[in-house]
Amino acid sequence: MKLFTFKPGGVHPDEMKITKDRPFVRMSVPAVVVVPLSQHIGAPNTPTVKVGDHVKIGQVIGSSTAFVSAPVHATVSGEVIAIEPRPHPLGKNVQAVVIKNDFKDEWFEPPQKRDLDSLTKEDILKIIKEKGIVGMGGATFPTAVKLSPPKGKTIETLIANGAECEPYLTTDYRTMLEFTDKVVDGFLVEMKASGAKQGFIAVEDNKRDAAEKLENRLKERGVKNVEVVLVKTKYPQGGEKQLIKAVIGKEVPAGGLPLDVGVVVQNVGTLKAITEAVLEDKPLIERGTTVSGTAIKNYGNYIIRIGTPVTHIIEQTGGLTKKLRKLIFGGPMMGLAQSTVEVPVIKGTSGILFFGEEALEMAPQDESPCIRCSRCVDHCPMGLMPLLIDHAWRRKDMKLAESLNATDCIECGVCSYVCPSKRHLTENIRSAKQAIIKQRKIEAAKQAAFEKLKALREKQEKEAAEKAKSASPSTEKGGKENG
Ligand code: SF4
Ligand code: SF4
Repeated sequence: MKLFTFKPGGVHPDEMKITKDRPFVRMSVPAVVVVPLSQHIGAPNTPTVKVGDHVKIGQVIGSSTAFVSAPVHATVSGEVIAIEPRPHPLGKNVQAVVIKNDFKDEWFEPPQKRDLDSLTKEDILKIIKEKGIVGMGGATFPTAVKLSPPKGKTIETLIANGAECEPYLTTDYRTMLEFTDKVVDGFLVEMKASGAKQGFIAVEDNKRDAAEKLENRLKERGVKNVEVVLVKTKYPQGGEKQLIKAVIGKEVPAGGLPLDVGVVVQNVGTLKAITEAVLEDKPLIERGTTVSGTAIKNYGNYIIRIGTPVTHIIEQTGGLTKKLRKLIFGGPMMGLAQSTVEVPVIKGTSGILFFGEEALEMAPQDESPCIRCSRCVDHCPMGLMPLLIDHAWRRKDMKLAESLNATDCIECGVCSYVCPSKRHLTENIRSAKQAIIKQRKIEAAKQAAFEKLKALREKQEKEAAEKAKSASPSTEKGGKENG
């Protein structure tokens, strides 16, 4: 197997993959699930059920007609007891459908097996959309949209992302080991749906056993155009742009997308979900999640229903071993700190990490002045100059931040991690990015309003001219008659 990596930048944080050898355990389903209506990047869903309705597993409970969207489904059978704003892992309260479980586990439509040969590309994309599949590595971009390139773009290469470079997380590793066939099937389904000619499954070299298992399975099944490749264990090896550069040597242009170089990258957990949706007719109602950290008793990998609150997870894993000081959804580098244990598992929850006192060391510390050591520049995987973007943000000079390509930051946290002065680089660059994007939206809205006004004026002028034109012959005629 070939070994690749990206350059420049990256770091080697302690792996802390203490759940690596713990196979998936199916977690019991809670008495009440809280299913947020928005669990993807794109237009929010509106509820398709009302309080008092009886729902069954797999029933659509929220949807949208927007192109960039993904429906959500009931994850238990039971009664809808509320539709109201509830804490969401992304930080705000978001409209959620609250279902009281009747523990009958009744399906809305019993799933039926399908054969890939009987499906067209259009069938596959339709099913992926209907089953609510989104990127499960954490990005939550609707998968059907990712596989539908705009006019003029084609998907030539698919890359399955099995890097899982964040410390602590092992759900992708266990998925590759325990659901090898589902990962392979999902890849083949995607190849058919996208028309890609070649494919790679990229696995970090600290997971060689998973890579070998996938390689053997591809050989046994006679798959020739998909290759398993090893990528060096380095953070953020699993970043889309880093993975593309490492595996096929192509650079996604600044401000661009993988599609600009003909590539789609898909997390291995998403591939498993695609198999279950397309070949087994199951919507996305559960996912594999690593439950880990220093403050949880029975850390491990669990298959958890979407909408399961953290309180239930704590209870089912034997409770906390110490006072909880930090709760993170995702990995410690890019994950999101939570302010309440009421938040539920959503489609993008790859990990839930529990930490005690020691987490205070991980929290942003008091900053010291920048000593111009350039470590942040040397390690930035996007080739940015974090210290200068940070400086621009502090001066509120967004033009300068924009010229320094702040919007290309992937928020990987590497610059903050290596900074000896503990500067809050990632935090400030994220804020600069948001400010630039907001400004761009305002400019775009202004431009759209201007264009609208211009079009209206042109229409009025045209109408006035036509009116004058239609009036003028009769005047001329009248003139002649009068003369
Ligand atoms: S957070 Fe952004 S600026 Fe900092 S190292 Fe990562 S990509 Fe570079
Ligand atoms: S790593 Fe920190 S101290 Fe060094 S140049 Fe960057 S911001 Fe300054």
